[in-house]
Amino acid sequence: MEEKEEVLQNYQNYVIGSYVRSGLVFVKGQGSYLWDIDGKRYLDFFPGWGVSGLGHCHPAVVEAIKRQAEQLIHIANNHYHPWQGLLAKKLSDASFGGKVFFCNSGAEANESAIKLVRLYGKDKGKYKIVSMEHSFHGRTLATVTMTGQSKYSRPFEPLPAGFSSVPFNNFDALMSAVDEKTAGIIIEVVQGEGGINVADRSYLERVRALCNEQEMLLIFDEVQTGFGRTGRLFGYQNFNVVPDIMTLAKTLGGGFPVGAMIARKDIADLMVPGTHASTFGGGPLACASCLAVMETIEKENLLENVKVIGEYLYQKLDQLKEKHPIVKRIKGLGLMRGLEMDGEGNWLVDICAESGLLINCTQGNIIRIMPAINITKSEIDEGMEILDSCLEREK
Ligand SMILES: *Cc1c(COP(=O)(O)O)cnc(C)c1O
Repeated sequence: MEEKEEVLQNYQNYVIGSYVRSGLVFVKGQGSYLWDIDGKRYLDFFPGWGVSGLGHCHPAVVEAIKRQAEQLIHIANNHYHPWQGLLAKKLSDASFGGKVFFCNSGAEANESAIKLVRLYGKDKGKYKIVSMEHSFHGRTLATVTMTGQSKYSRPFEPLPAGFSSVPFNNFDALMSAVDEKTAGIIIEVVQGEGGINVADRSYLERVRALCNEQEMLLIFDEVQTGFGRTGRLFGYQNFNVVPDIMTLAKTLGGGFPVGAMIARKDIADLMVPGTHASTFGGGPLACASCLAVMETIEKENLLENVKVIGEYLYQKLDQLKEKHPIVKRIKGLGLMRGLEMDGEGNWLVDICAESGLLINCTQGNIIRIMPAINITKSEIDEGMEILDSCLEREK
C-alpha cells in the first residue's frame, strides 16, 4: 500500500471523524514552508490556525523545548518550578499587570474565564455572560454555548444556562441584552472564525464604560489576536481599551499546546485553592516554549515586522481586489487578513493548495490569511502570485 494511502486509511478506520480535512498529509515544516508525504512543498499562509505564529519549527522554540525536555518535562501544580512564575511575570508586565492561570488550549482558557466571572458575580447574584454573534470561543460545552454561532451548539442541547449573544459592534443591542444578572461581556477585538471582523474603537470604549458602570467584567478573547498577530503583542493594545480578563492560546506556545487566562489582580484572587486546576497547565515544557516565543518576538523585532509586512500584504491584496471583481473587500489588522468573496470561497482554498499555497476560508465567503508573524516580503510576493493566478483561473 502507498504510504499516503495507509495514513488516510488509519484515520478512516481509527480516528473519530469530527474534522473536515484537506486530504494533505504533512511530514515536515520549516519557517513558512511545509512538505507533504510526497515531497511537495507548500507555502503556509495559515500555519495551524495561527498556532505556528513564528513559522514551523522555529529554531528558538525547538532549542528551548529540547533543552527543557532534557532537564525537566513535567511538574504538577502542587509544586513550584522556576519557569511558570517567570512566564506569568512577563505576560503580566507586557499586558495590564494581572495574574495568570495556565491551561492547555483556547477553550480551557475561556472556560477558566467563565468560572472566574461566576466567582466574581456570586454574591451580587450575577452569572450571565453576553457574547457576540459570529464569535468563536471553543468547543467545550460552556464555551461552545458562549460561541455566538448556534450551529456549533445546537446538537448538544440542553446547554448550560446564562449565555446569550448579540450582534457585534452594536451597542444598543448589547444594552438590551444586559440586565442586573449580567456578570461579564466577552469580545474578540478582531473576530477570527467569524470572518475577520474588526471591533470599532468607539464600541469597545462604550462597552468598557458600561462594564465599569454596571459592575460587569470585560473579557477579551485574544486566543487568535494575541501574541503579535495584529502588530501589537495583544490585539486590545490597538484600541487602548483594557479588559479585566484576557485569554490566550494559539501563537502563545509557538506550536506547543498552551492556554492562559490573565485577570486583573483583585479579580484573579477570587480563584482560591480548590476553585480551579489543570494537571498539565503551565508545565515546564509549555513555559519554556512560551518564553522562547516571547524572546523571539522581541529579539527579531517581530511586532514591527507585522506592522510593515501586514501593510504590505494589505496593499497586495488590495491590488488583487482591483484586478479580480470576485474579491469584494479586504478586512483585518496586521497579519490577520480576510478577503470577502462574491460567493463561496472554498474552491479558491482547494486550487491554491494544489498550487502550493495554504489559506483558509471561513463563514463560506471570507478567505482568511494569517501567515507566520516573521514572514518575509518575498514570501508574501510568492503567495500573492499563486493567489493571483488561482483567482484568474476562476474566470
Ligand atoms: C481557536 C479559538 C478558540 C479555541 O481554542 P482551542 O485551542 O481550539 O480550544 C477560542 N477562541 C478563539 C478566538 C479562537 O480563535
